[in-house]
Amino acid sequence: MSSSTRRSRLADIIFSQGFTMTVRCDRCFKHNLECRVLPPHKKCSECVRVGRRCEREMVSENEWKQLDRAREKIKSDMRSAEDSVNELSESLSSIASSLSSAILKLKRLKREQEFLDERQTKMMRRDLEILDFLDEENPPPSPPRETSSSSDIMNALCPVDDIVCLDFLNPEILPPPLEHSSSS
Ligand SMILES: [Zn+2]
Ligand SMILES: [Zn+2]
Repeated sequence: MSSSTRRSRLADIIFSQGFTMTVRCDRCFKHNLECRVLPPHKKCSECVRVGRRCEREMVSENEWKQLDRAREKIKSDMRSAEDSVNELSESLSSIASSLSSAILKLKRLKREQEFLDERQTKMMRRDLEILDFLDEENPPPSPPRETSSSSDIMNALCPVDDIVCLDFLNPEILPPPLEHSSSS
């Protein structure tokens, strides 16, 4: 019979015939097992089964110190993690606020651009209407003659004499009146 089989059989006997200890041994406590002992033997069934020493010892001072140190470390790490979270959350809300301002500004600029586009369309329509009217009333002039004085060129470029009546127009959009000095 192998030693492990022998241990297992002894453990089974101790477990079935023994009684449960109020204070469990270290191993049973650690593994959350039922700790049973059959007097006068002191070893519990589980320690016999695995061939370990069966001990009941208080937690050592060193283990308590280790625990205290670990808890202090966690506490300090948690404090700095909390600080990071607060800091990042402040940055995030500041970024969110900047983003919302930028979006509002972009929307406003788009509205202004639309307004200007509309204005451009209206202005072009108005000017084209006037040009159409002028073309009907006054067909584009023939090119200037080869030898011409400056006043002839002016006349050719802007033959205001031929315009019948421009009273209906807004005076601001009319070309300034030219002095027609030379006699034809
Ligand atoms: Zn035990
Ligand atoms: Zn034990």
